[in-house]
Amino acid sequence: MLAVEDPATGQRITTVPDCGPAEVDKAVRAAAAASPAWRAADRRAALMSCAVVVEEAAPVLAPVLTEEQGKPLREAKAEFAGAAARFRSFAGSPGPRAAGDGPVAAITPWNFPVQLAAAMLASAFAAGNTVVLKPSPRTPLTTLHLGRMLAEVLPPGVLTVLTGQDPLGELLVAHPGIRKVDFTGSAGTGKLVAAASTSAWRRLKLELGGNDPAIVLPGTDPAAIAERLFWSAFANCGQIGVAVERVYAVGPVYDGVVEALAAMATEVVVGDGRTPGTQIGPVNNRPRYDRVTGLTDEARASGARLVSGGPLDGPGYFFAPAILAEAHDGMRVVTEEQFGPVLPVVRCSTVDEAVGLANATAPGLCGSVWGADEEYAAEVAARLVCGTVRVNEHRAASADEPFAGSRWSASRAELRE
Ligand code: NAD
Repeated sequence: MLAVEDPATGQRITTVPDCGPAEVDKAVRAAAAASPAWRAADRRAALMSCAVVVEEAAPVLAPVLTEEQGKPLREAKAEFAGAAARFRSFAGSPGPRAAGDGPVAAITPWNFPVQLAAAMLASAFAAGNTVVLKPSPRTPLTTLHLGRMLAEVLPPGVLTVLTGQDPLGELLVAHPGIRKVDFTGSAGTGKLVAAASTSAWRRLKLELGGNDPAIVLPGTDPAAIAERLFWSAFANCGQIGVAVERVYAVGPVYDGVVEALAAMATEVVVGDGRTPGTQIGPVNNRPRYDRVTGLTDEARASGARLVSGGPLDGPGYFFAPAILAEAHDGMRVVTEEQFGPVLPVVRCSTVDEAVGLANATAPGLCGSVWGADEEYAAEVAARLVCGTVRVNEHRAASADEPFAGSRWSASRAELRE
């Protein structure tokens, strides 16, 4: 069995099945057997039923999501709402008429287990694919419960959730019955998945890590952007692929930006996600907590100034939002994805310098430019090399927007036979 941990206490909540090759084989065979009938089925009705299941499950399962992931209950509920909306959106769209050639292996990370799974399931089902879904071993519980509920409104074999520790994902991707892989996770794992999928000639979709830059232009009023910029970096405790991970502030605006972000950081309520009023929960797991702590310590040792935040006393993995001033591109906290509650702010003399540094990393998920003159900000934004660039905001307002990273952040390579 696989233990599931509560990041707010460090205690075990329960255990879930630790699946291996036999369960993978059984699930993939069932998915393959269900494919012909599923391709011919009224999948719009099924997608609508899935939306209803997710909505009805939310009051019971959102607290479970908070318990295993750490996010505030309000955000866990919002995740369910987003997941239901995704099923509804696919149920209502004309969708592709061409039948899918599943089974699809759908593999999710631990930051948005429900929403990311729903995005994979809704698109796969709409296209006529059956799915074997494997959640992260850090957050298997909510997905397992929800998968069982969804399976009740779907024909047998159309959806199986397999929980377990690595190398379960590797086993699933390697199974000869898998026709397509839909993967969201880190760039490192994405490379392994790509290699395994390519050698087996599978279709592949990857949504990988980012290290999103935000450029603050000279003349910007820090007070006018601080709240939006702060939450673009620290929502979900900074554990978002499309979070702002590094700020480049140009010219005299620098000190004001650091101050305004630090003021926000000291005001927000960090605590147990179950406690009403909590705005930022714990980091999801011990390795991530150690990485964020290590990157912060390393940056301080190289001259960065910790203006606010840092690790809090246990027993859970609490870390108050950290603003690191005088950070620079010689530090790993700037050049690598931290995926946690720390934000380095880099001082730049010119906009050209900021653009050059923003473009100088391997990931290219999203970016943003912040300034009072939106036309000029849009000109600067056009020079950022990433999947999506926004002005005076960072994260998409709607799940219906097209979304794809560039460079190491994503690949929608469709490997067709
Ligand atoms: P991860 O790469 O460690 O794991 C992701 C999933 O892959 C897990 O389910 C894991 O068990 C599984 N896995 C591990 N090894 C595998 C293998 N060899 N073959 C197949 N599956 C395998 O990532 P994580 O730590 O769970 O999540 C954090 C990462 O996800 C961050 O880099 C973040 O940026 C990224 N992410 C990206 C987006 C996006 O939209 N681009 C969204 C959310 C998260």
